[in-house]
Amino acid sequence: MKNLRHTTSEPGTNEGGFTLIELLVVIAIISILAALMTPIVGSVRGKAQAMQCQNNVRQILLARQMYVGDNYGNMVPCRPAWPDDPKGYCTWRWLLKEMYGLGEAVFVCPSAPNSYTEAGRPEPFAPGKSDVNANYAHVGEVFGNDSQSRRISLIPEVSQQVELVEARDYWSDMNMGSFGWVWADGYGVYGYWHAGKTTIGYGDGHVELKKLGATVTPRCQWDTPAGPHDGATHPEYAAMLEMYK
Ligand SMILES: [Zn+2]
Repeated sequence: MKNLRHTTSEPGTNEGGFTLIELLVVIAIISILAALMTPIVGSVRGKAQAMQCQNNVRQILLARQMYVGDNYGNMVPCRPAWPDDPKGYCTWRWLLKEMYGLGEAVFVCPSAPNSYTEAGRPEPFAPGKSDVNANYAHVGEVFGNDSQSRRISLIPEVSQQVELVEARDYWSDMNMGSFGWVWADGYGVYGYWHAGKTTIGYGDGHVELKKLGATVTPRCQWDTPAGPHDGATHPEYAAMLEMYK
């Protein structure tokens, strides 16, 4: 009787298996395919994150417009009164989250390396503690600085006015003067995580993904304290126009 257990191949043959060369070829092909796929997967993920970021800004703008409708045409200022906070103020983000049920994830860009609350800021700046982690800031000079509301009907060409801008982390409000702020500790002010572009929300609720410099136009997409759409004559704006010319 033939004992199958002791059946062996002749030396040098390879019945039904792979030779070393074949294995190496297969491994090489897999490596090449993996190397080709990695940037594709990365770019698909990057595009999905950019879309998520734009959806976030759309939702926030919608809630801000609902607030206007509920408050006689007044915008929510960057630090509205909030009796439940120990200091009596919250951020506009907290107010929208509490009043209109926005999820906390809506305030965070999925591509951003970090996000903080205003109270998490390194300096003793925050007027209150009621805030959520965030990467979006509004233009306070136009849409309500500190606790001061501004009536939206007073904003001319609101569809071309930057309302929300992607910020690196905890900024509650922005203005044109913030453009050049880069902090020594490595905190830049604005976010550029979407292939060098940033998500911009406009006063009429529409959203664009563009380079921040593209918002500096002769018509002035950043209103200034000196008055509506006087950007071309404002020293800071004139300097920005020169820089992005
Ligand atoms: Zn983003």
